[in-house]
Amino acid sequence: MAIKVEHLNHIYGEGTAFEQYALKDVNVTIEDGQFVGLIGHTGSGKSTLIQHLNGLLRGSSGSIYYNGENIYSEGYDMKSLRSKVGLVFQYPEHQLFEVDVFSDVCFGPKNLGLSKDEIEERAKGALEQVGLDESFYRKSPFELSGGQKRRVAIAGVLAMEPEVLILDEPTAGLDPKGRDEILDEIKALHREKKITIILVSHSMEDMARYADRLLVMNHGEKVFDDSPKNVFKHYKELEKMGLAAPQITYVVHELREHGVDIADDLTTVEEARDAILKILRR
Ligand code: ADP
Ligand code: MG
Repeated sequence: MAIKVEHLNHIYGEGTAFEQYALKDVNVTIEDGQFVGLIGHTGSGKSTLIQHLNGLLRGSSGSIYYNGENIYSEGYDMKSLRSKVGLVFQYPEHQLFEVDVFSDVCFGPKNLGLSKDEIEERAKGALEQVGLDESFYRKSPFELSGGQKRRVAIAGVLAMEPEVLILDEPTAGLDPKGRDEILDEIKALHREKKITIILVSHSMEDMARYADRLLVMNHGEKVFDDSPKNVFKHYKELEKMGLAAPQITYVVHELREHGVDIADDLTTVEEARDAILKILRR
């Protein structure tokens, strides 16, 4: 078990007139090697929750365990937690500030106090993982496309060699090609490096395709925690929360209402295509 969250509450501005209950009794255990999706309407508490997992925010009450250790216990090494649980913020390119791509990716490992050789080795490895070759090393972050900047920011976190990688809407604002490239790179990290992934996204299509498990937040509470297929069966409840199922799920349900004998748990276009072709060939 990598991360265990117990009865976590977070109140912003506690005791002021602006008090905001952002997390309410959240309980969740994330196992090593899972690919977890996190969805919820804007303001539902997604960003607040993930910032607790690496200790950036502290719960108003509740506990968080990382590999069995309570991160709120006295003397707990928060710095080490932050390198093991890497967090890529929303619009992370706003935090690129070094003169060139390579220096930017070196920033994190430098702070870990590693040797120069090791820092550079890690930076090279991380840039390779996000598909940026040597021709990018000396470029200014400002010369890059939106997708490239995003990848530099992700490489900066990967260079810390995290065990858990949390990404807050890493594809927001990117074109479809840039989006697919980044998600495929994340999937490859999960598959090849066995990194635990927590991905916040607005795209139900991406969740159906990439996540093994889907958490749904609503008004600060965790309301679903199941496989994407099982969660999307509740599309009517999701709609009440301002969410939806993948579009293909609606097509499948419509077909069923017209008497077509097709399974009700198809959530990707590929699955639906295969099922429809099978019916047509009967
Ligand atoms: P999400 O990431 O799902 O959009 P957030 O975690 O950002 O949701 O926000 C959850 C709730 O907490 C919202 O009501 C939001 O307005 C409030 N909130 C978020 N950050 C702050 C903050 N720094 N100060 C006060 N309230 C905040
Ligand atoms: Mg957010």
